[in-house]
Amino acid sequence: MHPGDFKKYGLEFLEWMDGYFRSVREYPVLPKVKPGDIKAKLPAEPPSRGESIDELFRDFKTVILPGMTHWQHPDFYGYFPAGRSEPSVLAEMLTATLGAQCMIWLTSPAAEELEERMMEWLRSMYGLPSDYSGVIQDTASTATLVSLLTAREVKSGYAINRNGYDRTYRFRVYASEHAHSSVDKAVRIAGIGHQHLVKIKSGPDHAMLPDELERAIAKDVRDGYTPLAVIGTFGTTATAAVDPLDAIGAIARRYNSWYHVDAAYAGTALILPDMRRMAAGIDLADTIVINPHKWMLTNFDCTAYFVRDKERLIKTFAITPEYLKTDADALVNNYRDWGIQLGRRFRALKLWFVIRHYGTDGLRQIISDHIEYARWLEKQIVSEPDFEILAPVLFSLVCFRYHPPRVQDESALNTINENLLSQLNQSGRMFLTHTKLKERYTLRLAIGNSSTTQDDIRATWNFIKETARCF
Ligand SMILES: *Cc1c(COP(=O)(O)O)cnc(C)c1O
Repeated sequence: MHPGDFKKYGLEFLEWMDGYFRSVREYPVLPKVKPGDIKAKLPAEPPSRGESIDELFRDFKTVILPGMTHWQHPDFYGYFPAGRSEPSVLAEMLTATLGAQCMIWLTSPAAEELEERMMEWLRSMYGLPSDYSGVIQDTASTATLVSLLTAREVKSGYAINRNGYDRTYRFRVYASEHAHSSVDKAVRIAGIGHQHLVKIKSGPDHAMLPDELERAIAKDVRDGYTPLAVIGTFGTTATAAVDPLDAIGAIARRYNSWYHVDAAYAGTALILPDMRRMAAGIDLADTIVINPHKWMLTNFDCTAYFVRDKERLIKTFAITPEYLKTDADALVNNYRDWGIQLGRRFRALKLWFVIRHYGTDGLRQIISDHIEYARWLEKQIVSEPDFEILAPVLFSLVCFRYHPPRVQDESALNTINENLLSQLNQSGRMFLTHTKLKERYTLRLAIGNSSTTQDDIRATWNFIKETARCF
């Protein structure tokens, strides 16, 4: 690149980025494209002659942007939110510019020490005991896999890492029927086998029933299985249900089982001291995962992983080839040994920017606003005779459906709600996703985008009502 061009284009990009932050609501939330539309606009072969940033930026705007789903649109209510904020984006620019690999202390002392401090800040913000150590993982999926691999090694005396998996181990893993699919993936990858993942029934509030857990483990122990790990979820993906972490943790303890708590989405609510009652017993966990990249304004990827006994984690993952040995090893954390990959992005910088820019008071205000919006919406839904709430609203997720009193047939209601969702999403005006709860087609409206306001929620609710009542 010619000297001066980086700055010239950088300023032009910043101008565009600033505009996007302020005008994202003017885009349709979902793009109007068919599968293959975008690929058809991309040449089959890479260019042999280098192209200008002008050409690239033009194609970004004409080819890529029309095919984007605008996750940061204030009316994006699908899945769970993807964090983003101005300070986080600015930090990501610096991270990319430094281009550092943060695998061991020596490869970037500031990155390692900032990560250590940020994890201490988060631990304190969430109200977790100070004997947890923290590390940033890329995703909750990876963190849960890391947890199960550690459990496997602890239970086998670190023999499976050495000898491979054989049939002498008869491990079982337990999680709620509403546990995230990353749990299913992790038991497969960790070699435990999907058939040895026992899904525990939930009650009417969609939270795991501890008696069912106890019964399942007791039966497995009688049948010669080893209860390797129990996974409790604080905020399930379908409904944000909260498993009774204390009762589950006590059972895990009693059977000498590893205890992992998946709080990927709802864990951020723990920055509000009032919310911590719901997480009573979380401190029984061996490992905990919370995603600042969901609900805490921090760009993907940034997963906070807490481990009570870091020696077990390191014993599972450490491999130190000669060229990575350094004099500092005894004094510092080498995060390469705290997870799967060697190379690591400098993720702590964006957390530092986000936490410092908003302050813990500012972040608490944003999270409690989102919870307030959800409660407001819940109240509206309850007050309408032709809508109903299908799961308790504990955080910022609202599960509901349209239920005109004239329709009583469940499968007809499912069809109506499926069509309603499709019409809402096709409008380009908003985006919601769905789940099935006890065979009922359920609309999920997840709040958590930093640009969403009370007015947005009000307008969204009016639009949903009007659309539904045209059916
Ligand atoms: C989103 C989510 C995950 C997966 O998060 P990734 O960081 O995308 O892997 C896991 N568990 C729960 C409860 C979630 O909500």
